[in-house]
Amino acid sequence: MSETRVYEEHVRDLVNRPGEMRERSRRFSVPEKMGEALAQIPAGEELTLDVRLESVHEGILVSAEVSTTMHAECGRCLKEFATPFQIEFQELFAYTPTEADEYGVHGDHVDLEPPLRDAVVLALPFQPVCRPDCPGLDPESGELRDAEVGGSPATDIDPRWVALAGFQTNAATAQDEPGSGETPGPVSK
Ligand SMILES: [Zn+2]
Repeated sequence: MSETRVYEEHVRDLVNRPGEMRERSRRFSVPEKMGEALAQIPAGEELTLDVRLESVHEGILVSAEVSTTMHAECGRCLKEFATPFQIEFQELFAYTPTEADEYGVHGDHVDLEPPLRDAVVLALPFQPVCRPDCPGLDPESGELRDAEVGGSPATDIDPRWVALAGFQTNAATAQDEPGSGETPGPVSK
């Protein structure tokens, strides 16, 4: 258990002082991997934790931002890849936790590991893709359709993608609308 002490926050100077607030930031190596499926945060990966601890009447309210790197296997082409991963979560650590308030203040600290782990695992994609337009494997040959693997890049592109690319270019020149709504990636809330 001692390894997971990295997730503990000392709150001695906040306990029973409603209105007090602290902000802290630190960086450490993940002691134990998070995630069991295609996408994981492996042990040893660097994680940046920005926390805001607010003393409220019921306990300590924690708002946290987690930034790390997700390692995953693409659900389409089976390629392994790594990509930035960020989440936020908020949790109330109560002085007198009830069944509804699962987490409590333990003496002079709160343990962020359970809620952090829950939030991360929930946000990890169930079907990760190496990129939004990954064409996947050819159903007949089992080979990558990807232009990067074998063959000349130009001729390996599926004709449907070529048509789409042309459409996007036309749309962009016809309208002055900026490329909005195109923010793919695992960043979630
Ligand atoms: Zn892929």
